[in-house]
Amino acid sequence: MDFYFDNAATTKLSERAAKTYIKTSQDFPGNPSSIHREGLKAKEELERRREECATILGVKPECLVFTSGATESIGQFFSSLLWQEPGEMLISRIEHEAVSSWMPILTQYGWKITKLKAKKGFVTVDEVKEKLSADTKVVAIMSVNNALGTIQNIREHAKAIREFESERRRKILFFSDSVQALGKTDLDLTGWDVDGASFSSHKINGPRGIGLLYLKNPASFRSIAPAGGQERGKRGGTENLPSIAAFTEALKEWYEEKDEKEPKISKYNTLIRSELEAMDMKILTPEENVSPYILTIATKLPSEVFTRMLMDKGICVSSGSACSNNAKGKTESILEAMGIKHDDSTKAIRISLTKDTKEEEVNELIKAFKEILHG
Ligand code: PLP
Repeated sequence: MDFYFDNAATTKLSERAAKTYIKTSQDFPGNPSSIHREGLKAKEELERRREECATILGVKPECLVFTSGATESIGQFFSSLLWQEPGEMLISRIEHEAVSSWMPILTQYGWKITKLKAKKGFVTVDEVKEKLSADTKVVAIMSVNNALGTIQNIREHAKAIREFESERRRKILFFSDSVQALGKTDLDLTGWDVDGASFSSHKINGPRGIGLLYLKNPASFRSIAPAGGQERGKRGGTENLPSIAAFTEALKEWYEEKDEKEPKISKYNTLIRSELEAMDMKILTPEENVSPYILTIATKLPSEVFTRMLMDKGICVSSGSACSNNAKGKTESILEAMGIKHDDSTKAIRISLTKDTKEEEVNELIKAFKEILHG
């Protein structure tokens, strides 16, 4: 049996979510856009699920748009900018490719892209204040970085942006990719005062292929793909009701268990950190303001080599940040953007936990490291 420590990439579908998926598929055969009885029933269930998600996230239901995952949520948000007159966008150097891959497209459409430094994995408020300019129209800073687990001070960034906005009397959109924050750090969309945020179901034991886009002012958002007008014209295409219901149950389950389980996860993270440090591994994730679910280290061997050695012992980790190893080299450059030396970035290994990670699994992970290093 393998011991799974790549939960920042994806997690196992919970039983409750799986059962909900099947039940919803069977109980709601209609298309929410149809006006017959089955269609109306499906529509009602869709809105009920949206309300449940909204309650957990502390926002109005109409501010939530179901998508096929965070990559699409991000795509919806950034592609909608193509309707606007271009301006300047400030973007952190440590965004996931789902965000950063939009930059060449926006550049082609006349947008000026300005990168925000993120030394040690943190964008400072001073950096944001320094870079805000008369041309700034959009700022994008993720909530929790997927490569190191560093938590960004979104509340303070938003404050700086809003102050600048009121001085200049001009709207600035603030987007925060919050995939690794959902359920795992304090999330406060309303208090943070962001204009948009992205979420993914499969990072919290929900199904893959479903996610959320949060829009503070949905009325001012114009999708480039409204198609049949579903999701109030913010995202066309037949709604994936079984996945939406299963995602909602996974979210509820996560929040019901969070207070009980999170202290254990923090304890395991601290234990892994100290044990690996004692084995002379370099700990790359800072000690403070980080997600308890992510710990990134540098070993003394190339990432892929050490990942395979761990795999031979039944341990699954990520070599680098990746939700995919397709984007080879990108993790390294994100780590290097944080000030991590190239040599360390090529030896980085990300260990990521979930709320259900067990002590026995953590012990197996530590044992595997010991065996590899000391024979
Ligand atoms: N943003 C971050 C920070 C991520 O970690 C991921 C993970 O893959 C994504 C975006 C993309 O999410 P999804 O797989 O739902 O498209």
